[in-house]
Amino acid sequence: MNKLEHIGIAVKNLDESNRVFAKLLGKPHYKIEAVESEGVRTSFFDVGGIKIELLEATRPDSAIAKFIEKRGEGLHHLAFDADPIENKMNELKIEGFTLLADKPFPGADNKEVVFMHPKTTNHVLIELCQEKR
Ligand code: ZN
Repeated sequence: MNKLEHIGIAVKNLDESNRVFAKLLGKPHYKIEAVESEGVRTSFFDVGGIKIELLEATRPDSAIAKFIEKRGEGLHHLAFDADPIENKMNELKIEGFTLLADKPFPGADNKEVVFMHPKTTNHVLIELCQEKR
């Protein structure tokens, strides 16, 4: 992995949580972006080059809605810059990790992303990402 790119946090109400994190971090979010295909609305904060991504579900069948239903709000995933992502995916498969998709798909913040099964990563949901080319 090249670096920790962002930390994803599942929230029930993005606008409320934006206010909480702006107070906590001492600066506002720098963007809000909906990812229709994933059923989420996200916001981003920059903390010394590492981003905090807040994620709110926009429909009941989205992964974030299901996560909150099961586990409540809170830490959702760690995202690593894994450019070039297809190479990293192959390496990780060979090492015995399980990926949740065969190909990267469009995520927020101009990224191609793929998630790893948390059962193979000590129950931490890991996202691999790279900048869209
Ligand atoms: Zn993410």
